[in-house]
Amino acid sequence: MQRRQFLAATAAFPVTAQDRRPNVIVILADDMGYNDVGFQGAKDIPTPHLDSIAKTGVRFTNGYVSHPFCSPTRAGLLTGRYQQRFGHENNPRYDPADAVSGLPLDQVTLPQVLQSAGYKTGIAGKWHLGATPAHHPLRRGFDEHFGFIGGGHDYFQANGPEEKREYFIPIERDGKPAPAGDYLTDAFSREACAFIRRHREHPFFLYVAYNTPHTPLQPADKYLARAGHIKDELRRKYAAMVMALDDGVGKILATLRETNLDSGTIIFFMSDNGGPVGINGSDNSPLRNSKGTVYEGGIRVPFAVRWPGRIMPAVYHHPVISLDVFPTAAALAGAKLPKNLQIDGVDLLPHLTGAKQEAPHKYLHWRWGGGPSWAIRDGRYKLVKPPVNSGKTDLELFDLTNDIGETKDISDSHPKIVSELRQVHENWNRELIPPRFESPQPAAKKKKA
Ligand code: CA
Repeated sequence: MQRRQFLAATAAFPVTAQDRRPNVIVILADDMGYNDVGFQGAKDIPTPHLDSIAKTGVRFTNGYVSHPFCSPTRAGLLTGRYQQRFGHENNPRYDPADAVSGLPLDQVTLPQVLQSAGYKTGIAGKWHLGATPAHHPLRRGFDEHFGFIGGGHDYFQANGPEEKREYFIPIERDGKPAPAGDYLTDAFSREACAFIRRHREHPFFLYVAYNTPHTPLQPADKYLARAGHIKDELRRKYAAMVMALDDGVGKILATLRETNLDSGTIIFFMSDNGGPVGINGSDNSPLRNSKGTVYEGGIRVPFAVRWPGRIMPAVYHHPVISLDVFPTAAALAGAKLPKNLQIDGVDLLPHLTGAKQEAPHKYLHWRWGGGPSWAIRDGRYKLVKPPVNSGKTDLELFDLTNDIGETKDISDSHPKIVSELRQVHENWNRELIPPRFESPQPAAKKKKA
């Protein structure tokens, strides 16, 4: 009864058929390229289940993440804020004694907000937001946790050489070491489905943070057998790992149907950054460059949302960003946000239902490494301060409406736009702080396995 009154008082939408607020599922791929899923045009990797999310929901053609690599994107996703506002601009080292490297503890997370609104919250997968006990998912808003704490993991085992400790730490269940019990990707899918069944009577938030298809490239044989049509070995292994993810998504969708939660659940899917082309077999075409850069290949990703009966199938062209998940989910849950909490994301629902026709964002911003490389885009143009190792120092301007591949720098012929966008960037940049921690030094180059 109390819930019903709460709903009537706070929900900005009619209650669902089940008379309850929607469940929220966020499915994240890790290092998946722009062109590596069927709904983005991939021909060599069958992804029927991911495609069904896009087909029965909304596919974003200008879907972005807030950073071109793993941990900062996750910090932005879970806070709804440009992560440079709180110094989370690099990857945290895996060190259970390092209290600085991780999502700052004063930042409010989406699971915390949903938890306080009465949602059950669970994560299956990769964390990568700090390794001290205080940074643990169970202390940052999740009721249940199954996964690993670092930035990547071996897909078959949880013990190995000390120098690669991060990738061989024990898988955990609710704070205790636990066997994965299966190929890691399949284990995360299994746990996601179990969470849904366990909480079918209760609104929930489920964050499925697959580490696939991030390296090491270790497909299970059963998936590799389905990728035999791909000649290139790197691409074949990569494709097999994407298929494992897609199978998992299929199981999640099937579990929602079995539990009659299909129409009561909103699902977001995206990759956490662009593909690291040449490293894991990913393909970002037609975009320029790859993970780690503020060119489109680093930040524009496969991105779709699905809520049967509430969001009509469509293709949405205005730019959106991973930061939008937080306010969208919080609004659906009728969650009360802390006063003075500055959210950079936008509640997308009115834009997706057609209640609002205008673009959700006037500008989107990116900043890399404390400032030496950055980008800003408005609806049409994108101004880029090139990556530090590119050898270029001049600003570049691209017209993304007819040059998605950022092939033609038009800065010379559009000085007014360059100057205007630069000013908007500088204003935004002044609101940020320097990085609070540095990324760990890259390990010696792993052999392509
Ligand atoms: Ca990543």
